[in-house]
Amino acid sequence: MKQPISRRNLLKNLGIGGVAGLSLAATRGFADQATDGDPERAGFASRINKIGKTTVDPPSPYMEDGKVIQPARELPVFHQADVVVVGGGASGFAAAVAAARTGAKTALVERRGSLGGLWTNGIVLVVIGTSVRESSGEYKLVTRGICEEFLQRLEKMGPNAITSKGRNGYQPTVDPEAAKVLMDEMIQEAGVDMFFHAWGVDVIKTGSALQGVIFESKEGRQAIIAKNVVDASGDGDIYHHAGADYEQISHGMGFVYRIGNVDRIDGSKAPKDKKFNLGSSEPLKSTRWVNNLGPRGNGLDVREISKIEMMHRQSAWNYVERMRQTPGYEDVFLLSTCTEIGVRATRLLDGVKKISKKAAIINTKYDDTVAVSGDDSFKHPEFAIPYGSLLPKEIDNLIVAGRCISVAPDLIDRVRLIPVCVVTGQAAGVAAALAAKGDVTSRNLPIQELQRVLKSQGAYLG
Ligand SMILES: Cc1cc2nc3c(=O)[nH]c(=O)nc-3n(C[C@H](O)[C@H](O)[C@H](O)COP(=O)(O)OP(=O)(O)OC[C@H]3O[C@@H](n4cnc5c(N)ncnc54)[C@H](O)[C@@H]3O)c2cc1C
Repeated sequence: MKQPISRRNLLKNLGIGGVAGLSLAATRGFADQATDGDPERAGFASRINKIGKTTVDPPSPYMEDGKVIQPARELPVFHQADVVVVGGGASGFAAAVAAARTGAKTALVERRGSLGGLWTNGIVLVVIGTSVRESSGEYKLVTRGICEEFLQRLEKMGPNAITSKGRNGYQPTVDPEAAKVLMDEMIQEAGVDMFFHAWGVDVIKTGSALQGVIFESKEGRQAIIAKNVVDASGDGDIYHHAGADYEQISHGMGFVYRIGNVDRIDGSKAPKDKKFNLGSSEPLKSTRWVNNLGPRGNGLDVREISKIEMMHRQSAWNYVERMRQTPGYEDVFLLSTCTEIGVRATRLLDGVKKISKKAAIINTKYDDTVAVSGDDSFKHPEFAIPYGSLLPKEIDNLIVAGRCISVAPDLIDRVRLIPVCVVTGQAAGVAAALAAKGDVTSRNLPIQELQRVLKSQGAYLG
């Protein structure tokens, strides 16, 4: 008869016998990773196959008179779509889902390997700006449609995925992994063609109209042909390449991180004068996320971002290490740091219409309202966001969503809030789909039809 194997021996066989405290459940299904370094036991051989080269090396740039010259070349067409969305953050995720639900063949191009942008990979976990307080004292949810649906579906995933509603309006905190999984689910449900690890680097433009985008990946530089393009890159990368007008600002560059084992802190053991900023609570009781303002910086300057990122990372590590050396705090640890540095704002479009604080304070009404913003402080009224603030002045078939729409610097801190990015994303996605289906340019789209479809998808337009 076979002898039952002890947990200790099983872990040893898996090649992880020395790892104390690793639960059996955690090892299930991960035998390959656990035995890395011992190919025979891991069964790696069954996965190794010679395959044809999937990439072609194009002619390289060369030097001429001290300049680097890029030779002209034809680019492979990787994909064709009605709508291509560049950037899969809060706004791009919503834009892609909305465009696909409106019946457009939709592609989503994202430079990282997961959706959510600053919300998930930037570990910005609290969703503020969903609601306003009415004169009656009641809170009204204004960022509806896909935003409301997403938060409700997170609630259904359970208390580990999102905090409960609370009484002060709706400002839930989400778990970043739950949010990423749900975004994947909704993108797939809607039938979006998802392309991760792909950087949008240029546009295809004839005259003043776009016919698609160019992206770079491990496979090189390729084209996606599309009737309409949504720039949801957060930084206006695509409208910059399209030649649209914009202004550029610097802002505080934060660096969010998470601390683990906070539920094991025994504050009674710590000296009275030791006070730590543990950040904000999360759905998981054992973790907290620490937000920060950071130094002012240019979020498009690679040298500057790199320096700030290393400075922030070191300081987060030092801070948590100091905590760990304090009685009562020994078990806390730096769980993770953001993979998307906290660039709050960079390029702001100079669009057909520009929204400003002055207009927002009195909730200026527009005949082309496509989204409504709530308030993070509950002191201000809701304000309308017109379609014109998503449109470049001169470029056709390009619609902008999220934190880089046409907004004056004095209003950016309300427009860049997560739920506001989601609602401008939904508006941009529906508009791009309708324009593609109706064979009209994004500029000539009948506004009432756009508003009708947005409302039919649950959006609130004031
Ligand atoms: C430190 C910090 C704290 C914040 N705190 C809060 C808060 O408490 N509550 C709140 O509601 N909001 C907060 N915000 C604001 C909010 O998180 C963001 O403004 C919002 O999430 C932006 O969404 P977005 O889709 O416009 O852009 P992003 O989240 O920046 O998404 C852009 C996406 O596009 C991808 N991308 C970029 N360029 C390219 C390209 N060229 N090709 C392909 N992909 C590309 C990126 O990888 C990313 O996934 C905070 C922001 C920061 C930085």
